[in-house]
Amino acid sequence: MLGGDEGQFRFTNGTAIDVFLNKNRILDVINHEFTHSLLYSTTSYGQFVMMLDKNGIVDGRSNIIKNALFTYMGRMQERVAVNIELMIRCASRGISDYIDAIDSLKMRNNVYYNHFRKLCCLNGKIREQNDAIQLIRILREIARVALNVDLNQIPVGEFRTEKDVISFFTNPINNARYSPNKRFEILVNVFFRENDNNNDIHSVYEGSLNLNKMYDAQYIHDVAMDAIKEMYAFHHLKERLVTRVESVGAKQIIFFEGADLLAAKPARINEDKKHFIKQIKTLEEFIKILEQQERKYVYIYNRIRGFEEFQVIGVYEEKKNKRITYSYMFFEEDNKKIFEILKSFECHFVFYKTKFLSKESNAVRKMVRQLPVYIYEDTPLLASFDVIGQMFYGGKYSYIRRINDTILVFQKRSICLFTNIFTESEEILNRELGKFNIEYIDMDDERQISEIMYLDKMCNDYEGNSIEDAKMIGQ
Ligand SMILES: [Zn+2]
Repeated sequence: MLGGDEGQFRFTNGTAIDVFLNKNRILDVINHEFTHSLLYSTTSYGQFVMMLDKNGIVDGRSNIIKNALFTYMGRMQERVAVNIELMIRCASRGISDYIDAIDSLKMRNNVYYNHFRKLCCLNGKIREQNDAIQLIRILREIARVALNVDLNQIPVGEFRTEKDVISFFTNPINNARYSPNKRFEILVNVFFRENDNNNDIHSVYEGSLNLNKMYDAQYIHDVAMDAIKEMYAFHHLKERLVTRVESVGAKQIIFFEGADLLAAKPARINEDKKHFIKQIKTLEEFIKILEQQERKYVYIYNRIRGFEEFQVIGVYEEKKNKRITYSYMFFEEDNKKIFEILKSFECHFVFYKTKFLSKESNAVRKMVRQLPVYIYEDTPLLASFDVIGQMFYGGKYSYIRRINDTILVFQKRSICLFTNIFTESEEILNRELGKFNIEYIDMDDERQISEIMYLDKMCNDYEGNSIEDAKMIGQ
């Protein structure tokens, strides 16, 4: 496609949509990415890949095995997501709109158009809106069967390199049993095509988990967790790596009318987000770097699950078009150290996500010397909607509107949370936030608006679009 990705499903970090995307594509892209997210979170193979992705930042092997496993499901995921995206258009807007959408896809993106075309045995059956509604369900369920692999039959504990994964799946018996791409192909062939190739449904059945329990979320999660435990059986950080991924797939998605618009966030996903990270050894040196900055902000990162005793804080600096994060890592004993830092630093603090502040907000407000305390929520709003609603109960919210998106700002007792939303979701928020007794106010303090816009820019500039965007540099 010209101009890069329209959307990105970022595993446990949720979906990001290109902020410059043509407005009439937003809902289609959200529907597309939502299909990916559903296929990941409700299947064993999908959850396992998400779990490995989450551990990828602390364990190199997890990242390598994840990338290798991904290649055996990427194709079927795309075929399903592209087809469901278009079928939803047919279901909601009718046949002629659907035909237009297919033509437009053909012009816009040949790769995706091919993914669409490959399932012509299915989508070719659509004559009216109801056909589309039915086929969406059927296609989703076939895809879920393809991805609900019995991981306990795969020797994940022995996977060390990409080669190990490839040689396992290259075996045709394993491929038909355990590769979601192949399983999906077989299922589509058996149900929708009249030919004799690729009809080894027996292998699909052999490689599946107990399909009678496909709607039992706990069972699916347990299958993935068992594979994770086997994967790290001999790892010296086993306990931590297992703990880190326990929450994957466990979250129930809350839903209300219009919630889909909040299930993704607008972001600059096609920009070069390369930045360098320099680790600072001592607190003294970190303070010195902070003092050299024209604008003094310390960013406090979300603590890593499984590694809660670590805390990492950072200072962002843009020097000759080079972005650098100076990061300082310390052990945290009962929050003592972080409170010491809050007390002694003359600067504003920006916390990532609500986790820490929702528990400690009173203590934090008392400690810091410059208010407000900022929170930047970098995952789509829907994922933390309830937590934010409760945290800001009785507080205020405002919008800072820009050409392509809006910054949503919550304020209560000198805690200020900001996050990026589509301007189109304002109406839904006005309705839903009332339920938390949060009241809309116009923001008129120019100084505060410009400060939030500055912080929003920094948080976005330093948010990589992939793991490879951040590079460590030496002393
Ligand atoms: Zn996709």
